[in-house]
Amino acid sequence: MKIGIIGGTGFYEMEGEEIEIETKYGNVTAIHLKKWQRDIFFIARHGKAHAKPAHMVNYHANIMAMKNIGASAVMGISTVGSMKKNIRPGSIFIPSDFIDFTKRKTTFYDDVAIHVDLSQPFCPVVRGVLLGIAKNAKEGIYVATEGPRLETKAEIAMLKKFGDVVGMTLVPEAVLAREAGICYASLCLVSNYAAGLQERLSIEEIKEMYRKRKPIIEKIVNEAIKKIPARRKCRCKYAPIEGKL
Ligand SMILES: [Zn+2]
Repeated sequence: MKIGIIGGTGFYEMEGEEIEIETKYGNVTAIHLKKWQRDIFFIARHGKAHAKPAHMVNYHANIMAMKNIGASAVMGISTVGSMKKNIRPGSIFIPSDFIDFTKRKTTFYDDVAIHVDLSQPFCPVVRGVLLGIAKNAKEGIYVATEGPRLETKAEIAMLKKFGDVVGMTLVPEAVLAREAGICYASLCLVSNYAAGLQERLSIEEIKEMYRKRKPIIEKIVNEAIKKIPARRKCRCKYAPIEGKL
């Protein structure tokens, strides 16, 4: 069984063989490792050197690379800001739904009128595995913003009426994974409170939280790799009507 992980560089690390995966959206570098009777593929979301900001990430190439190597399940790891006092920095957050405020292209289909069903935007099986491992994780709605700037206080005052955390990378990743028929779930680390909930925001603070909580994230992901069932009983693979890209 092939499992993919897409994460921030330095947040999740994996020793393995570096491979190049060709896609029509560009080549993607991945780390490949065989472990626990799984073929594991790690893609650094922002590119090898953490070069690309959230709005420039090649989401299409990353997901197509996972599709092309035959990954049936992908976990996306990222950091988010909390818009709710009870979701504290350092918490693990597993989104149950999302609202998209980005201005990005969110489809592979330019020539065919396809509408994928996102009434359950994450794979219930992979998400369930993550929830089963991360017992203290918070759940809720992820609001996706364009970035790379952080939000204003007024924006957060509005967005917190709609959702619980705010982040820049879940969309279009989750949507493209569904279009590709890949089981996808997201695992987030709350790195800070969003604007207006704490005095000021600094990148150092976000990085520090990253560093502190990295072992926990790695533990959850590694457990999940072992536990995601090889037989797919969910409906994710039937999402695109044609079934193929
Ligand atoms: Zn699924």
